[in-house]
Amino acid sequence: MTLIFKNHSFKYEIEAVCKLFFPVRPFYFLMISDIDTFTEPEGDYSFLALSESEKEAEAYVKTRINSRISEKSSKLSKDSREYRHDCEYALCRLLFLTLCELTGLAPEWGMLTGVRPVKLVASMEKSGLSAEEIKGRLAERYFVSESKSALALKTLSVQRSVGPLPKNSVSLYVSVPFCPSRCAYCSFVSQTVGSFLRLIPEYTERLCDEILYTSRIVNNLGLKLDTVYFGGGTPTALEAKDLEKIMRKISACFDISALREYTVEAGRPDTVTAEKLNVIKNNGGNRVSVNPQTLHQNVLDAIGRRHTVEQFFEAYSLAKSAGFDAVNVDLIAGLPGDSLEGFEESLNGVIGLKSENITVHALSIKRSADLMHSENTSADGGEVSKMISNSCNLLIESGYSPYYLYRQKNQLGNQENVGWTVPGRAGIYNINMMDELQTVLSVGAGGVTKLVAGERKITRLMNPKYPLEYIRKFEETVLPRKAEAENRLKDMLKTGKINVE
Ligand code: SF4
Repeated sequence: MTLIFKNHSFKYEIEAVCKLFFPVRPFYFLMISDIDTFTEPEGDYSFLALSESEKEAEAYVKTRINSRISEKSSKLSKDSREYRHDCEYALCRLLFLTLCELTGLAPEWGMLTGVRPVKLVASMEKSGLSAEEIKGRLAERYFVSESKSALALKTLSVQRSVGPLPKNSVSLYVSVPFCPSRCAYCSFVSQTVGSFLRLIPEYTERLCDEILYTSRIVNNLGLKLDTVYFGGGTPTALEAKDLEKIMRKISACFDISALREYTVEAGRPDTVTAEKLNVIKNNGGNRVSVNPQTLHQNVLDAIGRRHTVEQFFEAYSLAKSAGFDAVNVDLIAGLPGDSLEGFEESLNGVIGLKSENITVHALSIKRSADLMHSENTSADGGEVSKMISNSCNLLIESGYSPYYLYRQKNQLGNQENVGWTVPGRAGIYNINMMDELQTVLSVGAGGVTKLVAGERKITRLMNPKYPLEYIRKFEETVLPRKAEAENRLKDMLKTGKINVE
């Protein structure tokens, strides 16, 4: 599809709106100015023009899809303090309306393309809007459906019930980017343990060094460690002795006595053993995640996830008997080979286990995943929207509430991922990380340290992505970033803002 811009260059947001309707199509961009004449290209296109006079401007959009045309325009005042932003919004809005008309689709999150709807709702609430006014604003300005607005508002209210962040607190993210094998739908930077086995001892050493440096920052500045989260990859892909070494390093370097939560993802059931769970439990872990994604073997096989449904039940039961405060279970809606009924069976199966947390993802087809060109990829997402809305009803009826919510690019049916919880067990790290409420210090390859100096002041410091690069460039890239994080944190402490209050 060709996107022709006249007198502006709002490429990022305009492409994001188009992707709501055509998630895997390539887009070609053409910039023209006032002196150029517009010539219709072949095939589907959208022509987005801005024309300005002294006092006002006009946004104009003409879109052609499958030979059908829709045209819309609107006027804008040039007096507005946010004039550039108003122009961008007007063009996106007109484009969205033409695409709804020509495709017959009505995305439930409307033209909201950002990943954090709850953050938007929270800022509306902060500006004094009531729940009804927020719903009205979401519908009017962004075309968000009633049910998605209600979901975002409910999620925010559950988050509020978790209580405020402890003063001067930070969380620690530990990246373990290894997996026993690669699943077909995955686009995370994770390496298979088999081929990278030789790296693990050195990776563990470097990770422990980085934990030490990070703890010095936290301790020197008098910060409090609030939560710890081991993610990946699959942290339990490590052997029990390596996992223990890392966890012991954390308890030796930090004061973990006041942690509100300590999660270790044990995502792949085929990596879970009683020995590893004991290591987690004995070293302070109180929450684990064991993820089947589906309870149907044919679907697991279709997505190249090399474990069995039985292995999930065994791993889950081991995690339950280990006595963690919370066990999370992940499911994905929209997997190849699954159906509406099949997904509901999986969900009922998981609900029947009474796990404290259940996370329901809508499949996201990312660029690097093997499923990118699958015929299952369509903007309306086939049955995914129905799967997601049924899951909301079923989980609410079963006593669960949404506690965090985020969206990804290219998510089937433009749906979302939602973490559900029984009362009092919401995953604290997930809330604070996803809505960017708390400073997170990350260690390990691919780790991103997020310094949150208030709602709109977030600095990201990235570690090298791959384990080999992380090991080799530890001194020249990882350590200088630690020093930068420390300096920035000192400044943040002076202003009293190291989190969103
Ligand atoms: S276990 Fe998770 S992180 Fe690892 S390859 Fe599969 S989907 Fe990706």
